[in-house]
Amino acid sequence: MSAKLIDGKAVAADVRREVAEQVGAMQQKYGRVPGLATVLVGEDPASQTYVRMKVRACEEVGMRSIRKVLPADSTQSEVEALVRDLNDDPEIHGVLVQLPLPGHLDEEAVLSSIDLTKDVDGFHPVNIGRLAMKGREPLFIPCTPHGILELLDRTGVQLEGARAVVVGRSNIVGLPVALLLMHRNATVTICHSRSRPLSAFTRQADILVAAIGRPEMITADMVKPGVVVIDVGVNRVDDPTRARGYRLVGDVAFEEVREVASAITPVPGGVGPMTIAMLLKNTLISALRSSPL
Ligand code: NDP
Repeated sequence: MSAKLIDGKAVAADVRREVAEQVGAMQQKYGRVPGLATVLVGEDPASQTYVRMKVRACEEVGMRSIRKVLPADSTQSEVEALVRDLNDDPEIHGVLVQLPLPGHLDEEAVLSSIDLTKDVDGFHPVNIGRLAMKGREPLFIPCTPHGILELLDRTGVQLEGARAVVVGRSNIVGLPVALLLMHRNATVTICHSRSRPLSAFTRQADILVAAIGRPEMITADMVKPGVVVIDVGVNRVDDPTRARGYRLVGDVAFEEVREVASAITPVPGGVGPMTIAMLLKNTLISALRSSPL
């Protein structure tokens, strides 16, 4: 039997609608709306696209957005000075530095210069540290992991007591999603490139999160019947039948795994749309802290 499709586009649209309603309420009550500043250093085309999508998403829910672009050869102090200016702007509730930064810049220092109360990407080391500690609350949860939890919750997946396996341990996806699942009382295993044999772990999963960056690596024989699969991967594979010459696939061999799983996210249209929706939600949360409804 084919798995239930977890429709990230539909869930993200719900989240955006809820955010837009609250933005409207804030405008009515205070005469102002949440503001997000994006900082892009250099001209990486993928980063430009991501920033454009974030700016457009802000506008669609009625938020204000400020877009700052610095040249690729900007110095550490120039980037940090811009972040500090944005930290001081009372109309800005979220400051987002688009990653990756050019290689000569110290990424951790730049992320640390973002005011904790405006760290809507949730990548400030203190926010990640709080996420890792028992009894501490981060001010913001990183957007992709937050979106994954939202998808699981809105699909009605039971987390408490479930055996969750996360493949990938990056700072932006694998590690924080594992921490979030643990906080929700799942029993979590984190796998990575040195986990041997990977399938021995993945086959135990009630919930499997694949955040690897390897096209269709998780195959049907690696999962147990009834598993809930969250596929975070976004990979380009050559496809001469498409006008652009490629198509996007996840880290999971979707067609075969859907025959074994009970629920699965597609790529595209699964986790991807949730990331920007949760960025909007984090920016709203930040603004509501200073102007509660
Ligand atoms: P990283 O490259 O930072 O991390 C990949 C992780 O996968 C690492 O922990 C690595 O292990 C592990 N890994 C690599 N190869 C294997 C293997 N053969 N077996 C087991 N584990 C392996 O990637 P990200 O976390 O940044 O992203 C992962 C994927 O998610 C990418 O496809 C990315 O495009 C996508 N993504 C999608 C987003 C969305 O909004 N939909 C947002 C962010 C990312 P090790 O640590 O040992 O090297």
